[in-house]
Amino acid sequence: MLGCLLGAVVGDALGVPVEFRSREQLSADPVTGVRGHGTYDQPPGTWSDDSSLLLATADSLIHNGYDPPDMMARFLTWLKGQAYTPHGAVFDVGIATRSAIARHAHGAPASEWGCRSERDNGNGSLMRIAPLSLFTRALAPAEIVRCSMEVSGLTHAHPRSQLCCAYFSLLLAQVVQGRPLAQAMTTASQQLAPFVPDAEREVLAAILDGSIVEAPASAIRGSGYVVHCLEASLWCAANHPSYEAAVLAAINLGEDTDTTAAVTGALAGAMHGRAAIPEAWLRALASREYVETLCERLVARIEADVS
Ligand SMILES: [Mg+2]
Repeated sequence: MLGCLLGAVVGDALGVPVEFRSREQLSADPVTGVRGHGTYDQPPGTWSDDSSLLLATADSLIHNGYDPPDMMARFLTWLKGQAYTPHGAVFDVGIATRSAIARHAHGAPASEWGCRSERDNGNGSLMRIAPLSLFTRALAPAEIVRCSMEVSGLTHAHPRSQLCCAYFSLLLAQVVQGRPLAQAMTTASQQLAPFVPDAEREVLAAILDGSIVEAPASAIRGSGYVVHCLEASLWCAANHPSYEAAVLAAINLGEDTDTTAAVTGALAGAMHGRAAIPEAWLRALASREYVETLCERLVARIEADVS
């Protein structure tokens, strides 16, 4: 489980300097390890909003257990620059996430926080769901789905984003038990099936039938669209033998490099374990001790829970 959480943060940090680069630009100058500066001119090892929101979720679970409004309160604390940042400042935030946090801050009821339109299906909830996935991993599949959809819905309340989060949680629940990825995908898909409305079936088809892992690289996108992000993460993790190779492949797809690498990093980290994360990448991580301690505390809390 530690590999999953740290794997996400490390992947995010590796992707930050080249966010928005195209695949063509990256194929001419591929990322092979830790870099600095670039898109946001941040020092090497700087992680972004993806990890900030993931760490805020983890901290909420450590202190309050399953309490989605408490998660949202912590997201607001982050957006104000008061916590969960690598260097004390927020340098990136997604549009849907920002508007949802603003509705929360202005006192709207929880049912109105998350964005609901089909255009609001960015990867902003998928990138922060892993702590919740681990926290709920031992629950019945229907409960994992319910909690994942609710936590996605804090910011991303369209069924497509919610279903991608639910699938990812069901998948991680299998992977952290040691199931091979292909088997975990089949199980997650079967468990999610009763919750998939007809309107979402086609757009999620390549994930649900597992065919996405056989797709050619040219069919995989690293965009900020939640379906592209989940497809890319499955593809990168399935077609590369190590954490390191999967995360670099995710970054070198281009576009939303930090988030594709964060989600891929969570999955590949869960598959290969903490020891598979290159020590040099961990060493470069901004506020490494803070990140590691927080992730360790969540894992300890989950392991202590008799659930
Ligand atoms: Mg980011």
